[in-house]
Amino acid sequence: MNFNAVLIEKGDAGQSVAVRSLGTEALMDGDVLIRVTHSTINYKDGLALTGRSPVVRRFPMIPGIDLAGFVEQSGHPAWRANDAVILNGYGLGETHFGGHAGHARVKGDWLVALPKSLTPARAMAVGTAGYTAMLAVLALEKHGLTPAQGPVVVTGAAGGVGSVAIALLAGLGWHVIASTGRVEERPYLESLGAAEVIERKELSEKGRPLGKERWIAGIDGVGSHTLANLLSMTRYGGAVAACGLAQGMDLPASVAPFILRGISLLGIDSVMAPMARRVEAWSRLARDLDFAKLDAMTTTIGLDQVIGMGDAILAGKVRGRTVVKIA
Ligand code: NDP
Repeated sequence: MNFNAVLIEKGDAGQSVAVRSLGTEALMDGDVLIRVTHSTINYKDGLALTGRSPVVRRFPMIPGIDLAGFVEQSGHPAWRANDAVILNGYGLGETHFGGHAGHARVKGDWLVALPKSLTPARAMAVGTAGYTAMLAVLALEKHGLTPAQGPVVVTGAAGGVGSVAIALLAGLGWHVIASTGRVEERPYLESLGAAEVIERKELSEKGRPLGKERWIAGIDGVGSHTLANLLSMTRYGGAVAACGLAQGMDLPASVAPFILRGISLLGIDSVMAPMARRVEAWSRLARDLDFAKLDAMTTTIGLDQVIGMGDAILAGKVRGRTVVKIA
């Protein structure tokens, strides 16, 4: 049975990407065959599609770090034909053929059952970006932080992680300060629940070791000076969840916020997150995320439009979330 897939290949002339027709025999090893109905575009998919950073670790590779669809064949005790499933991370689109294809063969141990209130399309509107935003919210909550203690700041606000984080936090009663380089997106960010919108440049330049205390919590998808400034402006006892590097991978910070204000830096990894935390994140997303806001932040494209999205997402030109409709 043949299906279409985005295929990244590497030859003497460098990396090339095209949509190709493949058979299921070309798929990699795994005990569950899935008919993929939806995937999505994340920042990491942009890195893979453009070759800008070495996230693809074997060639050829089908990109797509997320997928949703239905089990077609299973040799795994937990899954049966027609089960609706989601998969994020575990090297999908990096070391194992990913979601930008009509079929995927994967390990059953990697799969999460699609929550009953979500469709495959909405699950991919959430995607790794939204699931990471939820992991960050859970980390802040586990740190004991509540909306009563003060505002939360979200950087990279108009991007995927940022948009879902704003919708989630506002729904949970937080006063959300959204930091964006696209001030023209103020109405969009306010529609998601941002109470204040600040300009990216307030946070992206080299700052002081300690600044005015402005928020008790933060979710940062940007890194570099922005993360350093977030830490330096966090109120006593607060915490910042770090999940991204859109500005840079460096962290030019001082220890002052940690030793003088008892601030915590919480690391967020979605790729190898333990299964119990994944299930908790997806069940909280199904419960807490306003689907009207999710739909409003989502654009749907076809598989043939995936390749063109690589440059756009890395340039910070994609607003909210992008779903790839495969079938
Ligand atoms: P998006 O491209 O959708 O969002 C990133 C946003 O960051 C942009 O929309 C833009 O927001 C802002 N931005 C872009 N370039 C810069 C820059 N040079 N300086 C400051 N801000 C910038 O990506 P995602 O939301 O999918 O991912 C966000 C980050 O989180 C990425 O670095 C990604 O790799 C990381 N990530 C990490 C995960 C993990 O497991 N830890 C999982 C998922 C994502 P605006 O225009 O509003 O300023």
